[in-house]
Amino acid sequence: MSDYVNSLMAQLKAKHPAQPEFHQAVEEVADSLSIVLDRHPEYRTSKILERLIEPERIIIFRVPWVDDQGEININIGYRIETNSAIGPYKGGLRFHPSVNLGILKFLAFEQVFKNSLTTLPMGGGKGGSDFDPKGKSDLKIMRFCQAFMSELFRHIGPNTDVPAGDIGVGGREIGYLFGQYKKLRNEFTGILTGKGLNWGGSLIRPEATGYGSVYFAAEMFETRNETFEGKTCLVSGSGNVAQYAVEKILELGGKVVTLSDSNGYIYDEEGFDSEKLKFIMDLKNIKRGRIIEYSEKYKNTVYTKIDSNQDFNPLWNHKADCAFPSATQNEINAKDAQNLLNNGVYVISEGANMPTTLDGVKLFLDNKILYGPAKAANAGGVAVSGLEMSQNSMRLPWSRQEVDDRLRNIMKNIHKTCLDTADRFGTPGNYVNGANIGGFLKVADAMLDQGVV
Ligand code: GLU
Repeated sequence: MSDYVNSLMAQLKAKHPAQPEFHQAVEEVADSLSIVLDRHPEYRTSKILERLIEPERIIIFRVPWVDDQGEININIGYRIETNSAIGPYKGGLRFHPSVNLGILKFLAFEQVFKNSLTTLPMGGGKGGSDFDPKGKSDLKIMRFCQAFMSELFRHIGPNTDVPAGDIGVGGREIGYLFGQYKKLRNEFTGILTGKGLNWGGSLIRPEATGYGSVYFAAEMFETRNETFEGKTCLVSGSGNVAQYAVEKILELGGKVVTLSDSNGYIYDEEGFDSEKLKFIMDLKNIKRGRIIEYSEKYKNTVYTKIDSNQDFNPLWNHKADCAFPSATQNEINAKDAQNLLNNGVYVISEGANMPTTLDGVKLFLDNKILYGPAKAANAGGVAVSGLEMSQNSMRLPWSRQEVDDRLRNIMKNIHKTCLDTADRFGTPGNYVNGANIGGFLKVADAMLDQGVV
């Protein structure tokens, strides 16, 4: 690490202690940017990175709600508005018991660079709550979403801040949140993305993150004149990112042998097919069940419980060519990264946000595999959110083909930006530097143009 990065990190940790995920996200970006700041001292004197690190605004609020037994519950709600230099704040809402300020600050920080890479005019933000939707009735979910929006509505708007889904927030939650916003404001505008198709949503939005991560991997394969045909893939998670990654991998001729949830993972040596995938989608999206039920239906499958005391995740310890971490942050540590390399994995496309620890990333880079970091590889989701905003502004829906073609093209461009930028700054093939620098430059130049605000 350069002296500059060292002192930046020391200051950050002293000012905002106990936010390890945020420190991790900043350190990775700052490391990539050292060379840019050397070549462009104007970014350093204007303190662009120092300003980017402090969110423009943080909103924290109480979410009191009464459940169906009449019990009063109190959760914490957040919206982190990190940067609006190139467009309204944009980024998802996460409902999960692990949610805290540091996690949302890391997510909002990452979002700034990711959104910039899409080429669409979107700033970066993130929000959510420590509310746990797992196993809760629709009525409880609705009451919580209404209580959450009863405060959030005063801070967002189609030209100010446009939230969307993330872990624990899907179509159902977006519907309840939108309904409450509309009631409070008495206006029908595109204040959220991921909406239902019959009330302003975009085709391909549910598929976009998963499809995008596979399109990105296809681009990486192409640099070696290869395709997905006959490749074996490990996918973690079983939410919408993982589900649609599997769908697209199968369509492109690959084989997928794993999926997981927070309790455990399934290994199906034969690989999933469209019938098995439909079972998983119904299980997760309609029945809202657990992945263990797959192994009860398909007997040749091995189900392994995730043991939180184990220092590695056995899901990453199978022979394969590609890995699509699509569950959550830091799900691949250095030991997992080494296991992946030992098992022959040479293509990694991150569907989740920051799923690999810093020492894991270093191993991937040192081994010169095709490693697509989250900011680039999972930008397809927010990109189609951007396209949903365009359609809402025009009040005109696009066809499935039109949106998918645009998504494919955006992922192609992001891939090219990463490679060209990595080349230009002397680290060919390093997608991490390419994504961090590529995302930074557009935002940094906009901040320079707009003065110290
Ligand atoms: N939560 C997604 C992400 O991490 C999507 C955000 C959005 O569509 O605004 O990029």
